[in-house]
Amino acid sequence: MPYDYDDQNIFAKILRGEIPNDTVFESEHTLAFKDIEPLAPVHVLVIPKGRYVSHDHFTAEASDAEILDFMRATAEVCRITGVSPGNGGDGFRTISNAGENGVQEVPHFHLHILGGRHLGRMLSRKDD
Ligand code: AMP
Repeated sequence: MPYDYDDQNIFAKILRGEIPNDTVFESEHTLAFKDIEPLAPVHVLVIPKGRYVSHDHFTAEASDAEILDFMRATAEVCRITGVSPGNGGDGFRTISNAGENGVQEVPHFHLHILGGRHLGRMLSRKDD
């Protein structure tokens, strides 16, 4: 089934400048901004500027330049926010939710970068 991108999703509006954001880093193909409801002292969302729904959509259909730019941007965000273990930080977690089972709220691919506190184990054993 083809990926169906919704141009009215909130991150598309941010990219068009219709909604403000707290930018952490921007490059040719990528934007990183603070999550509006942070779950940790560092909670940044990294998004491609292109119209991609999810991680698998992006990695299947984005150009090499977009993918490289996105991955480098995540490193910049880790450096800027001070969470990179390679640069004296205490570490971080990346999360990308996709689809219904992944409980994805915004249907524009985004990577959460979380840090600034101990984050506990990756998943609980409960179903919620
Ligand atoms: P997900 O459940 O992975 O789709 O996460 C969507 C994330 O987007 C949530 O953590 C929201 O807090 C965040 N979010 C929603 N609207 C905005 C906004 N206008 N600016 C920044 N973050 C937002």
